[in-house]
Amino acid sequence: MLHTLQLARSNKEAFTAIIVDRSTNKIVAESSANYHNNPLQHSETAVLEKLIEKYTVKQRLNMSLTLYTTAEPCPMCSGAITWLNITEIVYCTNRPCLYLFGETLFSMRANTIFHNAYKTSSKKHPIDHGLSINTYNYRLIEMTGDIQKMCNKLFQQHYNSTVRCPSG
Ligand SMILES: [Zn+2]
Repeated sequence: MLHTLQLARSNKEAFTAIIVDRSTNKIVAESSANYHNNPLQHSETAVLEKLIEKYTVKQRLNMSLTLYTTAEPCPMCSGAITWLNITEIVYCTNRPCLYLFGETLFSMRANTIFHNAYKTSSKKHPIDHGLSINTYNYRLIEMTGDIQKMCNKLFQQHYNSTVRCPSG
């Protein structure tokens, strides 16, 4: 997570994400947001595209991927993460704090999307198979303590906000 924060600082873009393969402990993709040119290029969608460009589906299936992101993913990015079947997501600044700082579009929490997703590797479909639903088995982790405080500060600067986040 510290690497994600350092990348955000060096890229001068608070919204930044990296993907790590836990089986090798190596960074496989990293990106900051590029929404000035393309509103769909949030840090998460941008880093997922880099992952797709670099690795085949077969290669990705052999990885154990964790996505680290400075901010709790928005509904679009949560959906994209689900489609890529990445089941471990770690973030620093949560959406209620982003909303307090000045984010205007979404305050919806990421777990709302993940909780309502179905495991994409399953051939079963909730409509076709009634109760045979495999839920998306995800881990969504919010960083706390100093690293969250550092990240919150980064977003305060990003939004030019003097509002303090209750979590630090
Ligand atoms: Zn997003």
